[in-house]
Amino acid sequence: MIGRWFGSVSQRVPSLLYRVSLMMNPQVVFVLGGPGAGKGTQCCKIVEVREMERERTMETTILTLMSYNYTHLSAGDLLREERAREGSEFGQLIANYIKEGKIVPVNITINLLKKAMLETMEKDEKKFRFLIDGFPRNEDNLQGWNTVMDGKADVKFVLFFDCGNEVCINRCLERGKSSGRSDDNRESLEKRIQTYLQSTRPIIELYEKLGKVRTIDASRSVDEVFADVKAVLDKEG
Ligand code: UDP
Ligand code: MG
Repeated sequence: MIGRWFGSVSQRVPSLLYRVSLMMNPQVVFVLGGPGAGKGTQCCKIVEVREMERERTMETTILTLMSYNYTHLSAGDLLREERAREGSEFGQLIANYIKEGKIVPVNITINLLKKAMLETMEKDEKKFRFLIDGFPRNEDNLQGWNTVMDGKADVKFVLFFDCGNEVCINRCLERGKSSGRSDDNRESLEKRIQTYLQSTRPIIELYEKLGKVRTIDASRSVDEVFADVKAVLDKEG
């Protein structure tokens, strides 16, 4: 897998898992849902479970295979990092798009995602499963993904956090009291919801037609939602 991307393969004796991963593309779960649906919160919980299981065991190789072992990559967080990076040629553009609730041109986002995936796998060859949170959000995103990642990653399914607009708006306004995010205010939120309905829902519907969407009722408490998330992951592996 890493060899395929970099043209070189680690020389050390490979573990069972490494040999398996070498033959596989990175495995991706797209995590979608409206702003404030709980994508980031639930992704963090998925990763936490894995860390806990890891701590509990001495024999990590096999058990790691059985635990979720996902790396969480939030497209929004990567864009916010890039916005803050000194010398970034895209900082101002990203800032404008985020505040307006618009979707940043995919060439920027896809490069950040690809770089983050590569860096993760380079550091630890066992980390080849990714939760890609908040992407693809529109047709342009999807096309960019298909162009750049075709044959290089497998999309297993879409985890869809389904949540009414009112609940989403209220959660983001609540989060806005402490998040410091430039888009957690009513004006930006109205725009984000419109973008979600007009641009992101059709992408979810497209995957739905392919039988690839796992829908979770995300209007409930964090723990109730997570119980359903676990059920999906236990089934899907
Ligand atoms: N964004 C984008 N492309 C992406 C992901 C995010 O342009 O692939 C921008 C977009 O302006 C969006 C904002 O980043 O409204 C915040 O996204 P995030 O996923 O952080 O918000 P959430 O949906 O989690 O509240
Ligand atoms: Mg988020």
